[in-house]
Amino acid sequence: MKSLKVFGRVHLAKRNYSPLPVDPLLRFKTISQTQKAPRVLITGSLGQLGRGLNSVYKYMYGSECVVMSDIVRLPANATDVSDYNYLDILNQSSIEEIVVNKNIDTIVHFSALLSAVGESNVPLALQVNCRGVENILQVAAKHRLKVFIPSTIGAFGPTTPRENTPDLTVQCPTTIYGVSKVYAERLGEYFNHRFGVDFRSMRFPGIISATKPGGGTTDYAIQIFYDALQKGKHTCYLRPDTRLPMMYDTDCMASIIQLLSAESSLLKRRTYNVTGFSFTPEEIADAIRRVMPGFEIDYDICPTRQAIADSWPKSLDDSEARKDWGWNPEYGLEETVQVMFALLRREEITPQKIVSTA
Ligand code: NAD
Repeated sequence: MKSLKVFGRVHLAKRNYSPLPVDPLLRFKTISQTQKAPRVLITGSLGQLGRGLNSVYKYMYGSECVVMSDIVRLPANATDVSDYNYLDILNQSSIEEIVVNKNIDTIVHFSALLSAVGESNVPLALQVNCRGVENILQVAAKHRLKVFIPSTIGAFGPTTPRENTPDLTVQCPTTIYGVSKVYAERLGEYFNHRFGVDFRSMRFPGIISATKPGGGTTDYAIQIFYDALQKGKHTCYLRPDTRLPMMYDTDCMASIIQLLSAESSLLKRRTYNVTGFSFTPEEIADAIRRVMPGFEIDYDICPTRQAIADSWPKSLDDSEARKDWGWNPEYGLEETVQVMFALLRREEITPQKIVSTA
């Protein structure tokens, strides 16, 4: 095994726990054998998704290929992070400076305010999610960069068909997060056909990872594992029957690597749906009970997050991604539950740690 830090803070060889359900590394190794190493700038890289992608890129191409950036200080335990830079994406010339000085050819633009946080600060969401995207695309056009900007199921709205939602459908979101992500999709496509920017995007469902989430509506699907291990009980802010699409972290990382390394000629569109599986709070609680029989769930509904969830798809149709560039997720609900418990137990998320992790 080339690296033991593929999952950010999780050290795979630290203890001898039960094996992961599938070989999580194989897909990345296969791709790196056929592709030239990129020089990638990750913005917002200390959020939920950034450190995992950093580790995957380093595993694939070595430590020289990733430049990390964000506006917050590195946490003390961030031994997986190197070449870390302060970068406020509202400052276009700072983005350009890093691109030039570090010889970047690809930007993965993760900086954003997610759905729940965005609703609580609309002016900042407009700045970060709209002005930030404009800055990134303008720098990409000037320096001929490849750009990945994730979109979300939040880019759909209450008038979108909610079952098996296709790529092309009604997009009238009712959150500032959704509105700004539709803007990012449309602006990226515009920069692609108008200026030739190699813009690529995917509409992610809720991503489940061992890293704590950043204020989205699907956060409960991570918190439930921490609570299961720390308290044996979770209080959910969504109704028990709220079905939402989700995806496990490694599948999310694989989708980014795969889409970014796909030949341009294969892409019939620049924004694709991708998904793993869908479940309700009741169903994930049942799946957790199969591993931890005493686990309990109760409900204290948050009206803001419930309204957001009720406006989002229950399931996504990602057949175009599968057809055009071979998207093929490996984790279902049962595998995700197993791997989350294995990862969090390795990090020693136990009742004794409640005080230090609260
Ligand atoms: P996150 O909230 O965990 O991290 C976002 C990061 O952006 C933070 O580290 C924050 O410090 C940084 N940031 C905020 N303002 C900034 C600024 N002015 N300049 C630079 N950085 C700034 O988000 P995440 O979960 O890692 O999501 C990454 C991307 O994926 C986002 O675009 C999000 O919309 C998208 N996405 C995530 C999910 C999910 O479930 N996590 C689902 C769908 C789409």
